[in-house]
Amino acid sequence: MTELIDHRDHTSSSVMPTYSRLPIAFVRGEGAWLWDQEGRRYLDALSGIAVCNLGHAHPELSKVLCDQATQLWHTSNLYQIPPQEQLAKELCRLSGMENVFFCNSGAEANEGAIKIARALGASRHITEPKIVVTEGSFHGRTLATLSATGNPKVHQGFEPLVPGFIRVPFNDLVALEDLSGRHDIVAVLVEPLQGEGGVRIPDRGYLRQLRSLCDRNDWLMMLDEVQTGMGRTGHWFAFQRENIVPDVLTVAKALGNGFPIGACVAKGKAAQILTAGMHGSTFGGNFLGCRVALEVIRIIEEQSLIPVASSLGQALHARFCQKLAHLPQLKEIRSQGLMLGIELQAPCGHLVAEALKKGLLINVTANNVIRLLPPLILDDGQAEQLVSTVVDLISGMTS
Ligand SMILES: *Cc1c(COP(=O)(O)O)cnc(C)c1O
Repeated sequence: MTELIDHRDHTSSSVMPTYSRLPIAFVRGEGAWLWDQEGRRYLDALSGIAVCNLGHAHPELSKVLCDQATQLWHTSNLYQIPPQEQLAKELCRLSGMENVFFCNSGAEANEGAIKIARALGASRHITEPKIVVTEGSFHGRTLATLSATGNPKVHQGFEPLVPGFIRVPFNDLVALEDLSGRHDIVAVLVEPLQGEGGVRIPDRGYLRQLRSLCDRNDWLMMLDEVQTGMGRTGHWFAFQRENIVPDVLTVAKALGNGFPIGACVAKGKAAQILTAGMHGSTFGGNFLGCRVALEVIRIIEEQSLIPVASSLGQALHARFCQKLAHLPQLKEIRSQGLMLGIELQAPCGHLVAEALKKGLLINVTANNVIRLLPPLILDDGQAEQLVSTVVDLISGMTS
């Protein structure tokens, strides 16, 4: 086995030390596999944090990217961009929404949502409009999105935070109900299930009741589907599980399968608020990103990967239950489609490096939750390798 060499030499690195990186560099990928510099193969059960849902170096995506690269990369949003129009139509068709603002990341998509809410407040002559957000949430690292994020570690050192957010516990409709009738509130921004927060899934009916609460109060229902969107949970978007439609939907991560692109998608009055000059992005919705995202959508539909995410997720969940239920280390297994969280009794961050030694990429979030976000193209053999390796890792822990 290759020794893991620590490349984190802070004296020689010219990159800001904002990440605690694992001492490994990958040089090549294919589907759910990655290879390191020594030629060793790894199974990727994280997909670049819910980004490479179609796996690495997908031949059809590479072809479209190369094709477009020989034609035209970027003009500007000063001009018409036909693939951007097409991609907006596709996102609206899949989500039931009406129009789209394109950007380059999840945080930027949420900035768009926050600006829509603020501008709605201004149109109602509310001087200090408020957006309700939840504890344990993650919305990004820009100043507004870190302020919306419900994790003190993300705030630390960046005060004063952007004002205008009211925080309630996640999955708590009573706390939201208590805010009813407040006219300074313009929107609620939540993840349909929390990813960074530890794969926390709200009770069935949470989104549906949130929808009716927003309707009664004339608040925008804004869903951050940056991690859950694009098929990950067994639906194109997680809200579709409850047969509702939000007013604002944010998407990024898997939209470009690794090519940076984000989208803020709107409906009804939210779709009418931002007009010429109110928002913009230099790169947002350029030719390369839009062509890749259109191909991502085409492949997911052609290969019927949405039902696959659902059935494969259920199968993995069942296998983990079968093999882990008796272990004292286990607290709970949670999943929706291919978003799986295995909560243990004790902190388990060290399992990430141990998994790597066994040729598997996983993640640990919220201290004691193993988070698995495998690509939607995982085959049966890979699924079995994933289960057996994770089971070995947990079994090997002293509880
Ligand atoms: C990753 C993530 C973001 C931030 O996306 P970036 O592309 O890193 O800016 C926002 N919201 C959720 C739910 C995420 O998982």
